[in-house]
Amino acid sequence: MKVVTGETIWTQLNNVKNKYTYLSKDIECDVVIIGAGVTGALCSYYLTQENVDTVIVDKNIIGYGSTRGCTAILQYEIDVDLTGLKGLVGYENAVNCFNETKNALYEIDNITKNLDDNCGFAIKDCLYYSYKDNETSFMQSEYNLRKESGFDVEYLDKEKGSNRFSFDIKSGIYSNKLAGEIDPYRFTHSLIRKGVEKGLRVYENTEIISTNNYGDKVILKTHNGFTIKANKVIIATGYEARKYFDKKTAILTRSFNIVTKPLSNFEGWYKKCIIRDTDDPYIYIRGTEDNRIIIGGEDEKIGGERSKQYNLTNEDKVSQEKYKILFDKLKNYFPNINNMNIEYEFSGFFGETKDGLPYVGKHKDYKNHYFLMAYGSNGVIYGVTGARLIKELYFGNNPSILELFRLDR
Ligand SMILES: Cc1cc2nc3c(=O)[nH]c(=O)nc-3n(C[C@H](O)[C@H](O)[C@H](O)COP(=O)(O)OP(=O)(O)OC[C@H]3O[C@@H](n4cnc5c(N)ncnc54)[C@H](O)[C@@H]3O)c2cc1C
Repeated sequence: MKVVTGETIWTQLNNVKNKYTYLSKDIECDVVIIGAGVTGALCSYYLTQENVDTVIVDKNIIGYGSTRGCTAILQYEIDVDLTGLKGLVGYENAVNCFNETKNALYEIDNITKNLDDNCGFAIKDCLYYSYKDNETSFMQSEYNLRKESGFDVEYLDKEKGSNRFSFDIKSGIYSNKLAGEIDPYRFTHSLIRKGVEKGLRVYENTEIISTNNYGDKVILKTHNGFTIKANKVIIATGYEARKYFDKKTAILTRSFNIVTKPLSNFEGWYKKCIIRDTDDPYIYIRGTEDNRIIIGGEDEKIGGERSKQYNLTNEDKVSQEKYKILFDKLKNYFPNINNMNIEYEFSGFFGETKDGLPYVGKHKDYKNHYFLMAYGSNGVIYGVTGARLIKELYFGNNPSILELFRLDR
């Protein structure tokens, strides 16, 4: 499964200092994590901080799955807005979910302070807006709900919007310090390095081909004939984890991103906040530590493994058209920012769940396995929440929020 196409900004800008060998003998450990993307790396961080004897394996190299294609916008906002989520899970649960994502944002702030690199992390404001007249009453009531629920939000009408931004806003919610941005690839590597300091064993180029229970243990077999004997297994294999489920866990789309060269002027972009519109698919915009703009969106539904969208290359006409549309949109957003040139273009698989929530927890058919499927546009944030919850499960606790993220919902 080639989840990302094209050279991404993160792998192009970062030199990877640490490379890890493949597994070449039989080993034992307490917990083994399959998948060394940002989700698996977060699990390894939480467990090794508690001195759990942990192994992490990846069939590829660290961070080369969806993680390298991630725009890494971090938001308290979920794909399904508060009004929609309230309808699906009730008011209290919906607010709890928004608070979980907000807490995870600030948890990333704490984690990066404990790492050897701040990973380009910054807390930001975010704008959720509409350019359509007929969405004003929806936006107003979504704003009221968020305000009543204790989030630090401002309502933007047309006039307030035009004072801050160079594009047309009919209505919007401006959220203060409830979003962030990070370099997901650096973050993943840095988390793993921190784990190694605490005894984490890391094996790249090591594919797990089976996991089987023997008594209280799980035996994992690798592609090259070795075994790992563990008490617990964490499945953090991103979209490849879908194979453990009979039902559809997520709708897969392909999302497209372009990245400018560094810029010196950001006129018309208030506080370089995170921007998202209400379209379906929506447009998302962020800045970077080195003063670039990333704009993404133009998502296309993906069919089966043989479909065109599944196998699209970066050179394909469809991809090239998508990148052009994104660039035109970017110029329309910021007509006063001159000399915008595009340096990186890439696309990747993106999975949406029906309620915008992740899948975290135990699977009835797989004893001693924990699953963490951090799907949706809050993938990194859900990686944090999920990794923390799995640590709780490992220590015998069962936080009530897991009911909302359960695998069989
Ligand atoms: C274009 C795009 C934009 C995005 N924007 C955002 C955003 O703004 N904010 C956000 O939070 N999220 C965003 N996402 C989603 C985010 O990228 C994902 O949620 C996140 O990267 C998932 O990380 P992961 O570790 O779960 O999966 P992955 O990074 O895919 O890692 C899974 C790993 O498992 C390994 N693996 C699989 N099977 C095996 C096996 N059998 N044995 C060993 N290893 C195995 C793979 O090699 C891979 O490295 C975006 C995604 C894309 C593509």
